[in-house]
Amino acid sequence: MAEQGIGTKCVQGGYTPGNGEPRQIPIIQSTTFKYATGEGMAKLFDLEASGYFYTRLQNPTNDHVAAKIAEMEGGTAGMLTSSGQAANFYSVFNIASCGDHVVSSSSIYGGTFNLFAVTMKRMGVDFTFVSPDCTEAELEAAFRPNTKAMFGETIANPALTVLDIEKFAKAAHAHGVPLIVDNTFATPVNCRPFEWGADIVTHSTTKYMDGHGAGVGGAIIDSGKFDWTKYPDRFPGLCTPDESYHGVTYTERFGLAGAFITKATAQLMRDFGSIQSPQNAFLLNLGLESLHVRMQRHCENGLAVAKYLQSSDKVAWVQYPGLEGDKYHALAQKYMPNGTCGVVSFGVKGGREAAGRFMGRLKIAAIETHVADARTCCLHPASTTHRQMSDAELSAAGVSPDLVRYSCGLEDAADLIADIEQALA
Ligand SMILES: *Cc1c(COP(=O)(O)O)cnc(C)c1O
Repeated sequence: MAEQGIGTKCVQGGYTPGNGEPRQIPIIQSTTFKYATGEGMAKLFDLEASGYFYTRLQNPTNDHVAAKIAEMEGGTAGMLTSSGQAANFYSVFNIASCGDHVVSSSSIYGGTFNLFAVTMKRMGVDFTFVSPDCTEAELEAAFRPNTKAMFGETIANPALTVLDIEKFAKAAHAHGVPLIVDNTFATPVNCRPFEWGADIVTHSTTKYMDGHGAGVGGAIIDSGKFDWTKYPDRFPGLCTPDESYHGVTYTERFGLAGAFITKATAQLMRDFGSIQSPQNAFLLNLGLESLHVRMQRHCENGLAVAKYLQSSDKVAWVQYPGLEGDKYHALAQKYMPNGTCGVVSFGVKGGREAAGRFMGRLKIAAIETHVADARTCCLHPASTTHRQMSDAELSAAGVSPDLVRYSCGLEDAADLIADIEQALA
C-alpha cells in the first residue's frame, strides 16, 4: 500500500485496536504494572524485553500518541514529554553534556533561548548562536571540535523567520553532527523536516497539536537516519556501554532507529522525570485527530489577516511568511507550499505604547501568553515572554519593541478583521 496521507495518519496513526478492543486510545491511568514473577520484570529493567513497569519511563497511552506523531513526521521512534521545554532540553542533553558545544539559530523561542544560553550553560554546555540568514561561511565558522548538534526552528516563535533546513542540515552533516529542528509552528501537516535533511524533530504539543489550550506537552521524534556509529568518540553515550543502565550500548541493542529515543527514555526520563500524564496524552490525541483540518483554517485566517494588516495605514509593518513580498516567502514556498501557520507579527504605528492601546481594545482576540490555539490570542513579547532579554538579544531574535504577535484561531476571518479594524481605529 502507498504511504498514507497526513490526514489519515492524524486520524488513525499510532493505534490499531484488536478485535473487541476500545476504538479510542484508552487512558491507562496507572502508575505501575503487575507481573507474575520477578524474573519477568527483571528482563524489562535490563531492556531485554519490552513492556511497561512504571509510568515515569513508559505508559501505553503516551506510547500510542508518540507513535502517531512519529508516523506523521516520518520518523522511526518518538516520545512524549511534559512540555516543549522538556523536549528541547532532552533532545540536546541526550547528546551534549558538560564540556560540549552546540550551534543554534538565534531566531528561536524565548524559553528555548534562555534554556540554552543560561541554564544549559550553567550545566557546562556552550552555545553559539547564528542568524538563520547567515552565509554558509558564517555557519561553517560557528563549529568547534566539540560541537555535538545544531538546532533551529522551522518557523521561529515569535520572529516568524523560516529556517533554511537544507542549508543547516548540510552544514551539520559536514561536521558529523545531527540537525535538531523544533517543528512546533509548522507541524508535520505543513512541513516534515526529515524530508529536508533534519535528523531529530521536537514539538511543543501545547500549541497547534493540542490546539485547544487544554494541556502543556512536548514530543521528540527521531528520523533514525543519523549514523551515530560513524562517530563513536563524538557520541560515546550512544555508542559505548551505559554503566548506569546495565551496560547496554544503545546503538547496538536498538539500532539507529531506536537508539536515540531509548537512551532519552532510559536515562533522561528516568532521572529528570518530565513525563506527560496519560490524561494529557489522551487530550493531545483528540487534538491530533483534527490537526490537518484545523491547520488549513489557521493558515487561511493568517493570510487573510496579514493581507488586511498590509493594506492598513495604521500598521507600520507586517511579517507573515505566507505573504507575498515577505522576506521569508520564498523559503516558505519551498518548505511549506500548503501553508505556514496562523501566527502573524506586525508593528502598530506609534510604537510600544500604541501597540499596548491597540491590544487593550481588541474584543475577540484575548491577551495571552499563548499561541496556536483555537481561540485567537495576541501578545506583546518585548514586555512579556522576552522581557529578560537585552535589546541586542531581542534584535538577534528578530523581536522589535513594537512587535505584536497575533495568533489567528479558528473563528471567521471577517470577524477577526473587523475586530482589528475597530481596535486600530
Ligand atoms: C511554546 C514553545 C516551546 C516551549 O513549549 P512549552 O510546551 O510551553 O514548554 C518551544 N518551542 C516553541 C517553538 C514554542 O512555541
